Amino acid sequence: MKKPELLSPAGDLDRMKAAIHYGADAVYLGDPKFSLRNRAGKFGPDGLAEAVRYSHERGVKVYVTVNIFARNSDLPDIRDQISLLNDIKPDAVIVSDPGVFTMFREKAPGIDIHVSTQANITNAESARFWEKMGARRLIMARELSIEEIRGIAGETDIELEAFVHGAVCLSYSGKCYLSSFMASRGANTGECTNSCRWKYALMEEKRPGEYFPVMEDERGAYVMNSRDLCLIDHLPLLVSAGVTGFKIEGRMKGIHYAAGVTKVYREAVDQINDPKNYQASLARWHSELSYYGNRGYTTGLLFPGKEDLYNFTGEGEFPEAEIAGTVLEIKGNLAKVLLRSKLALGDNIEFMTSGCEGHFASVGSLKHEDGISAVSAQADETVLLEALPGVRKGDLIRKLATK
Ligand code: SF4
Repeated sequence: MKKPELLSPAGDLDRMKAAIHYGADAVYLGDPKFSLRNRAGKFGPDGLAEAVRYSHERGVKVYVTVNIFARNSDLPDIRDQISLLNDIKPDAVIVSDPGVFTMFREKAPGIDIHVSTQANITNAESARFWEKMGARRLIMARELSIEEIRGIAGETDIELEAFVHGAVCLSYSGKCYLSSFMASRGANTGECTNSCRWKYALMEEKRPGEYFPVMEDERGAYVMNSRDLCLIDHLPLLVSAGVTGFKIEGRMKGIHYAAGVTKVYREAVDQINDPKNYQASLARWHSELSYYGNRGYTTGLLFPGKEDLYNFTGEGEFPEAEIAGTVLEIKGNLAKVLLRSKLALGDNIEFMTSGCEGHFASVGSLKHEDGISAVSAQADETVLLEALPGVRKGDLIRKLATK
């Protein structure tokens, strides 16, 4: 079985570097202006150039999202963006608008094009259309079942990518007016407020201000609340169905998620041809994935009839862990660590290192860089901590929140 490409979200350079450190084969990112994620970090021209340089030096591919549904007024800026990308040379752009697709084909024929999940490719004819247009890869609509993906793969020769992890939108591949309507922030311009996950009440016309709770249980009603996608159990099946790229959703999520979810899926992809070890590792991977805030996991719409998409309770797993620091170097059994948040003796920390999973331990020794013992240290300070075997430069350390 050919190993698929593991593609991680990069909301900013920091998260991109973490995803690369933990094994992403490719990262996707974009200038918020053109990429349906208006609040996801800052990737202006300099940031994009730096991202491509850093990734290429490490053999990692970069895909730049230009997947807005453009209005006429957007076209001049898109022309400028195409010219910039022609200079920067990412490995591909992710596009959903046929007009933007054509502009890239004409003005930047050297850049591969991946067609975004937002383009709603749900059948083989549609896939063939984009193939004939010159697309390199198609990102499958999230509504497809495993058999529908297999069917499309069987009738085309183009690369297919699928989301394997992350938040799921209950509207049709993101086409939704709820957020525009409720908060004047359009999902299709990258500003979704996740209004589907708000808690709603009922009000009778003639009694303004009197809210009748809509109750399913004592916590309220969550009729539009989706669980989060997790296909870690089914990666071999996706490969056998013809998927060649696995995408992790989450450009809006923090460094803890970008690093940790990439780490888990890296291990899974590396074991894809070793079914025995794959099965044996699943429990550990699930336990690790429970660390990243989620509303309960689902296989989405991959298996029709398995109706676990909705989370009617609003419950989920929201562990209170945060990134405490980054390992700058290892000196003997000590790790030199740049802190990202305050750390004190007695805090519970874990090195995010393969083999160290589940080894939360209280900080028993904390030293300043000059070797002088400390009781606590602040963000941006460099400290020395005892390191477990296997800890590498670049590994992150997470800390359980104190209650
Ligand atoms: S409001 Fe909810 S359903 Fe609508 S686009 Fe946003 S996440 Fe999707």
